[in-house]
Amino acid sequence: MEKIKNLAISLFGNHLPLRERFFNFASLGGAAATVLATLASGISISRYAAQNGLDFWNVGLPGMTICFACIIFFLLTFAIFQITKKLNFAIMVCLIGLNFVLFPGLFVTVGGIGSGMPIYFVMGLVFTVLMLDAKPMFIMFFIESIWYALIFAFSAKYATSLQDIFFIMPYDLMYLDEAMDFFTVGISTSVLVKVLALCFEHQQKRTNELLKQLEELSVKDPLSGAYNRRFLLRYIESGIEKHKETRAPLSIIMFDIDKFKRVNDDFGHLVGDDVIKGFSEVLLQSCRNYDVVARYGGEEFILVMPGASEETAYARAEQIRAKVETTSFSDEIDRPVTVSGGVATYTTTYNTVEEFIAVADEHLYTAKETGRNRIVWRGSIN
Ligand code: GH3
Ligand code: MG
Ligand code: MG
Repeated sequence: MEKIKNLAISLFGNHLPLRERFFNFASLGGAAATVLATLASGISISRYAAQNGLDFWNVGLPGMTICFACIIFFLLTFAIFQITKKLNFAIMVCLIGLNFVLFPGLFVTVGGIGSGMPIYFVMGLVFTVLMLDAKPMFIMFFIESIWYALIFAFSAKYATSLQDIFFIMPYDLMYLDEAMDFFTVGISTSVLVKVLALCFEHQQKRTNELLKQLEELSVKDPLSGAYNRRFLLRYIESGIEKHKETRAPLSIIMFDIDKFKRVNDDFGHLVGDDVIKGFSEVLLQSCRNYDVVARYGGEEFILVMPGASEETAYARAEQIRAKVETTSFSDEIDRPVTVSGGVATYTTTYNTVEEFIAVADEHLYTAKETGRNRIVWRGSIN
């Protein structure tokens, strides 16, 4: 049961683009529906054969053959997409095979206009409007309409002789009426399906955008644009897991703006906010590949550097410290803003993320105690 559920999710799940989901549904559903249609035809043929004292396979061979061909065809198009992963190619194979081989074949062998066969043509139109983009859709829709009209006209014109060759059941010459009904139902159903699909697609796009915004909001700090503490802890945890697998180093730098209370007191909180934003920008600019900047507290930031050794992290921290010293964060501040930092590199002797961060915090404390505007790491202590 679990396996079937997983298979269904892998073929029709939300993670797949809508068109891929619909293709899987249409090709497998087409095979299933054709099995039912084959059964229905089989029943009709056997009843007709029994009533007229005829052999089932004598009257039913062409119809049954093309029914089985249809089932194989749908399974084949499904397999083509699964193997090649080329959706547009699979769609074209499906459309051409369906419209120009199977439908005409079914139309003349299963009973033509009188058998209800034209209903199947509606599926061709619906498939076209759902699977193709605007331009190829209009071209294909036009070709199909002409093609179906030709089949109607052909089968009406040669009704009697075709009936002699293939048709197992007599039918009336209601071709014009049937053709008009077909086009009315076919076009209106296609338009309805297209409108519904477009609405659904639009809605899904909007939902995805909102989800993305929500995700962003839940992990980012609104003032600085850096990640928040919750994300930081998770990111360090995943970095530790990776370190345990690959032995790649994992370093962090904890920064704290020096004498920030005085910035607030002397120039106001809004200017203080600008300094926090500006400092965050400096940090974000110094980020590489998998580095992450997070606001750990009021004016404390942590830069996580997966893959960086302690020396590399220290060098980067020094660059950032020097850059901050020479950056003007606000026209109103008449003295340099400086930061202090503490570097730590993960070792398996740390039991928790908090223990790891505490080491960077201790080094930061030492930097503050020994004059500020400096970076402390293991190397500067020993
Ligand atoms: P030190 O050099 O020892 O770090 O001195 P400090 O004055 O920076 O001391 P501390 O780190 O304890 O002070 C942090 C101050 O940062 C206190 C608080 O008013 C201020 N602060 C925290 N969050 C914000 C914020 O979002 N905006 C502003 N403007 N100020 C903040
Ligand atoms: Mg401070
Ligand atoms: Mg602080």
